[in-house]
Amino acid sequence: MIESDRDKIKDIPMSSSDTLIVQSATTSNGTVPLLSVEHASKVYESERAPVRALDNISIQIGSGRFVALVGRSGCGKSTLLNLAGAMDFPTSGHIRLDGVATDQLSESQLTALRREKVGFIFQSFQLLYTLSVIENVELPLLLAGHSDPRPLAWERLHSVGLAELADRLPHQLSGGQMQRVAIARALVHSPRILLADEPTGNLDTTTGNSILELLRQICKENKTTILMATHSAESASFVDTVVKMRDGHIEEIVRS
Ligand code: ADP
Ligand code: MG
Repeated sequence: MIESDRDKIKDIPMSSSDTLIVQSATTSNGTVPLLSVEHASKVYESERAPVRALDNISIQIGSGRFVALVGRSGCGKSTLLNLAGAMDFPTSGHIRLDGVATDQLSESQLTALRREKVGFIFQSFQLLYTLSVIENVELPLLLAGHSDPRPLAWERLHSVGLAELADRLPHQLSGGQMQRVAIARALVHSPRILLADEPTGNLDTTTGNSILELLRQICKENKTTILMATHSAESASFVDTVVKMRDGHIEEIVRS
């Protein structure tokens, strides 16, 4: 990251528990940031020229922050989310999640890290269409070997306001309801970070705003960190911080 970017980030007001800074592995008060992206670059090899999707990005995000990544299609937002969730790895540099460098873990450690610490939601909801709403929500717990996932799934479904729709199939829901189910599923195991890739992209503005409001509430009440790629112009009024990206770089960081 270039010097001027670092200075911009330092300008963001911080409290000791709410940090968004760059460059050091620990914050000034010695705590480990939840997500630390350290000089991360990502180059995709392709048949033509290699694509540099991220170019030496550094950013640190503390617990309980709601951060929006904005920028044109192709600027690297989804790539950064995938690296943050240990779904993929940087070509150079490091990603630390809760202090752990994702590129230094075994496959089984990675699976455990993703299962325990990361939730993901997508523009297209990605529900399983042959399972009921409540079965979708409890699925991550079942996959993790939880013996009695139903009560926790109920609790999460209730918290997104959909308990009465538990027995429906996804195709019997509106888009906004489907995204609420996806949010309940992503949070059922109480992850430290929720990664959201264009979560309002398939929704009308009013429904999209209700999803943004729900995410804001989750972030504040549960202290879940949320990193969200978005095109929504409205998102700025819901998040703490907007990170503007361009061509694989962080162009500007704006605190709302
Ligand atoms: P955004 O989410 O901001 O639209 P992406 O992170 O999806 O951007 O993509 C960044 C760049 O990397 C784009 O040029 C895209 O075409 C390229 N890219 C993304 N994924 C791959 C991949 N798996 N293989 C090759 N190129 C990719
Ligand atoms: Mg994308």
